[in-house]
Amino acid sequence: MKRISRKQPQSRQATFMIIVIVLMGLVWSIYELSSSQISANRIKPSEDPTVSQNKNTATPQEGLQRYKIVIDAGHGGKDPGAEGASGNREQVYTLSLSEKVYDLLQQDPMFEAHMTRTDNAFVELEDRAQIANDLNADAFVSIHGNTYKDPEVSGTETYYYADASFEFARKVHEQLAEATGFKDRGVKKEGWKVLTSSNNLAILLEVGFLTNLNDETNMLSDTHQNRTAEAIVNGIRKYFTDRDGR
Ligand SMILES: [Zn+2]
Repeated sequence: MKRISRKQPQSRQATFMIIVIVLMGLVWSIYELSSSQISANRIKPSEDPTVSQNKNTATPQEGLQRYKIVIDAGHGGKDPGAEGASGNREQVYTLSLSEKVYDLLQQDPMFEAHMTRTDNAFVELEDRAQIANDLNADAFVSIHGNTYKDPEVSGTETYYYADASFEFARKVHEQLAEATGFKDRGVKKEGWKVLTSSNNLAILLEVGFLTNLNDETNMLSDTHQNRTAEAIVNGIRKYFTDRDGR
């Protein structure tokens, strides 16, 4: 009977195992390196599917940067917002008006407009502000319709949180309150999440009370929305023109 020496194959086996382990380690570290580079490059605001691409074709004024304005259509998706007097939901109104504001801004070479949502998507409050923060936006404008248990309550309110945003709130509100024709309920300071999470100028507009039949009827009409959108854009333009003299 031939005796098989087991010593040599054993040491060859051990060498083979060491090579396999070293190779596996090498492959793992290459994988780790490349995936960390991918994740570092992954989050760009412009690639976020919830953010509309800037399609401004207007020629910018020579040598002047466009002001980046983020328009936030309140609510959406699983959060429909207020229920209006007629049963319509706030999320539909805010998107409709926001699109009109966006279009007007895009027609003005002074601005580069963005939206936090362009369809009936749900976006977290923190993410709405984060979109503006990531873009390093000049201003964030959140658009809402108000609600109250008493259907008699009506009017326009504008909110700000950081004191630096007060003048911006005041200028936009001045135009907005006049254009709506509703009761002027003034500019108020309040810690809404979208405002406290914003790094830049940030305001929240409660255009009118959807729970008030007169406010709602006006707010749902295209004519009133166009007038309101124009007023919001005029207010934004006036603020930056006055501040920067352009
Ligand atoms: Zn709302």
